[in-house]
Amino acid sequence: MFEGKRGLVLGVANRRSIAWAIAKRLADGGAELAFTFQGDRIESSVRELAASVASPLVTPCDVRSDGDLARVFAEVGEAFGGRLDLLVHSVAFAAAEDLEGRFTDTPRDRFWLALDVSAYSLVACARAAEPLMEAAGGGAIVTMTYLGGERAVPHYNVMGVAKAALDASVRYLAWDLGRKRIRVNAVSAGPVRTLAARSIAGFPTMEAIVEERSPLHRPIDAGDVAAAAAYLLSDDARNVTATTLYVDSGYHAMGM
Ligand code: NAD
Repeated sequence: MFEGKRGLVLGVANRRSIAWAIAKRLADGGAELAFTFQGDRIESSVRELAASVASPLVTPCDVRSDGDLARVFAEVGEAFGGRLDLLVHSVAFAAAEDLEGRFTDTPRDRFWLALDVSAYSLVACARAAEPLMEAAGGGAIVTMTYLGGERAVPHYNVMGVAKAALDASVRYLAWDLGRKRIRVNAVSAGPVRTLAARSIAGFPTMEAIVEERSPLHRPIDAGDVAAAAAYLLSDDARNVTATTLYVDSGYHAMGM
């Protein structure tokens, strides 16, 4: 399904990362993938995972840095002959203390930090990917969102506000880039046990409630999310853009 496609994956921290489940699926389908990682702590695990899918490029990237982003996309252009077909944006961050207490108490600097890493980074990546995707004749971008951007989910707090900005960014990017046949979509995942999820104070409750109240009464795993992302990134979705695909056992449809 992805034979001959070149992709960049941001957001692998370890083998439990949603980004890794997506990458594995794309690579199994024949895609050639470049990876970024943030921080020395996870470098070796990302390099090991990337090597297992014969990645031609693994490079550091802090999405808060314009310099890092410019370097990464230049390296991607070099590795892939100036073309890019797929972009996986699976990056988010908020300070742990802002995922515990009251949203009302979020200080200004940490509010902007969460929005910078979790929402603006998609805009910056899409802009940097645009010329490479244009050269490829079009492209597909997918990001990871959560229902906490549309409804108030206790503990999700500032990350919910960041996801709301991310969701709106998906729609505006889709409009801007659609003429160049670049599609931009999101997957809204139910709770999946990952490194990022562990920093949300009420995470076990979120998992329990989804299992109890969702139409399917099933837990969600990263593979489920990856399957939806792979569809959105594939040519099967050539007329799908500016949308959110929910992989949450149907929980988003419930009022109680
Ligand atoms: P994860 O911890 O494996 O991935 C988060 C990634 O963000 C990590 O690789 C981390 O290095 C990266 N990151 C954080 N700050 C960064 C920065 N400044 N620059 C570059 N990278 C940075 O956790 P995950 O659950 O796989 O999260 C991936 C995405 O999925 C996030 O956007 C998250 O909000 C979203 N999501 C997760 C769930 C869930 O339940 N796990 C549900 C819905 C949406």
